[in-house]
Amino acid sequence: FERTTFNPLMNTEFCVVMQARPLRAMLPLRRQARSPQSDTKKERVVILGSGWGGYTLSRRLSKKNYAPLIISPRSYFVFTPLLTNTASGSLDFSNIVEPVRDPRAKVDFIQAAARAVNLKKKTLLCEATVVKSGVTESPRTAEKERRTEEGPETTNMKPMQAQRQWEQGETFEVPYDKLVIAVGAVSQTFGTPGVRENAMFFKDIGDAKRVKRRVRECFELAVLPLTTPEMRKWLLNFAIVGAGPTGIELAASLRDFIYSDMMALYPSLDELPKITLYDVAPNVLSMFDESLSRYAMETMKREGIDIKTSHHVKSLRWGPPGAPPPYHIDPKRCLTLTTEENGEMGVGMCVWATGNAMPKFITESLDLVEEFPTDSVYSIGSSSKEPENSGNASWKFKKAPKKGPLLVDGHLHVQLQNEKGQTAVLQDVFALGDNAMPENGAPPATAQATYQESKWLADRLNKGDMAHTPPFSFRNLGTMAYIGDERALMQIPHKGDRGSNSFLPEGIKGRTASLIWKMAYISMSISWRNKLRVAFRWILNRFFGRDVSRF
Ligand code: FAD
Repeated sequence: FERTTFNPLMNTEFCVVMQARPLRAMLPLRRQARSPQSDTKKERVVILGSGWGGYTLSRRLSKKNYAPLIISPRSYFVFTPLLTNTASGSLDFSNIVEPVRDPRAKVDFIQAAARAVNLKKKTLLCEATVVKSGVTESPRTAEKERRTEEGPETTNMKPMQAQRQWEQGETFEVPYDKLVIAVGAVSQTFGTPGVRENAMFFKDIGDAKRVKRRVRECFELAVLPLTTPEMRKWLLNFAIVGAGPTGIELAASLRDFIYSDMMALYPSLDELPKITLYDVAPNVLSMFDESLSRYAMETMKREGIDIKTSHHVKSLRWGPPGAPPPYHIDPKRCLTLTTEENGEMGVGMCVWATGNAMPKFITESLDLVEEFPTDSVYSIGSSSKEPENSGNASWKFKKAPKKGPLLVDGHLHVQLQNEKGQTAVLQDVFALGDNAMPENGAPPATAQATYQESKWLADRLNKGDMAHTPPFSFRNLGTMAYIGDERALMQIPHKGDRGSNSFLPEGIKGRTASLIWKMAYISMSISWRNKLRVAFRWILNRFFGRDVSRF
């Protein structure tokens, strides 16, 4: 790694300043005056992440008082509720993304991943990720990194190591006045053998592309003349692990895609394709009322989705059931998924959607903080929050709990704890979204909650009186899920949450709910361009079918 320094007063195109080169050679700066970064009176708010938290906050912060800078490995925002629609060809990938760079938004951007925070100097260590493939951290990239770190850099370097060498970006430091951490979460694998290496995950556009491509690939492999009937059956068995909203919506969207569009292309494979949904819990969609969750199970079973609740996945490997080791990656064949209950089962693809784990940045970067500048800690106290000793440099504070999200107070300030149970509240460091856990009650890890948190934080920062405002509280506006064949579920908050006079029912299901689901997501799409594109694509699909192309 070459350590370099980022100068926030410079245009971002010239932000990576090699220390060995003379400074004057680095001053390109015609465009500097137009950049919001050049106004030193404004506070520099560095926002980590361009997802629901980071993107929303950056757009809502007042540009009069603040100069927001997004640092993210991803140069776009993804409207995740419609990600399953892109994997099933109902929408184009571009219909659900918004570019982070937009001159009208007056937000600066650096395509990089934050690696460490120096709370005393108020700087971040970042790694440029512009040319890195697979931009977000997934369990698979973590595995890739681990394997690369293990291997010595010799001339006999394996192809993966050689590839990682050019993928590794320069590191540089970025100063901040205020820091907002919204790096989201990665997929949880529970250490299940083979899952990191062989499963697909479903968090980003790249994941949706991979899923769509693999489904098409399995159909083409299945019709090859050499493919045996047994292998054909396995290749066309698509497994999804995790029956939460993501797993359910993906199963439902793939079911529509396969039964309505793919079967028209492959009539000889009639009756063979199968979607199997696994979960350890006895029910699907546990956040919905029991009657709605039961309706979802019954409807999806009727649609032909095999729902295997109370099933424990033990391992996932390449090769057909019964094949002897070694098990090498072989996309030309199927995988074997083993459950405690049913033993080995051949599958063409396994998508793993079992919940959230914290990315490395959250679990490690605030792991051990020994010194605080007094002005960035406004209270250090016992668990009763009595101030004890502000800015004590000898205590060692850690993020708590070790593997979980960042603990934040009601105003979304990050809290650290030491062994004595004392708490440090960082005045200038905030966290929100999937990587944060408010101490006064964690909202669900959803776009709805993250959006509310970032809107709340932007309003409070814009008003400038954090101390005197009531803490953030989550307002449940309801939950929706698409369950296939133009049917959906809609859970409206319980009467206690919406006032006893509410005339609304507690749940809507079926085609009416599907219509509301569509209207809601069209209206919630960020730009007018995407609102219109989504609406038109859904109408066009009715006449011309979904997009079945494979790139
Ligand atoms: P994210 O939106 O995941 O954004 C994290 C950002 O941080 C990304 O831009 C990432 O590139 C960046 N990042 C990662 N590491 C670093 C680093 N080291 N440095 C800098 N940046 C970094 N919620 C709902 O309410 N309704 C739904 O219908 C719904 N559907 C969903 C469907 C799918 C398929 C998925 C995956 C999620 C869905 N969710 C839904 C959940 C919702 O998307 C998340 O709760 C929400 O995205 C959390 O926002 P976030 O900002 O915390 O994280």
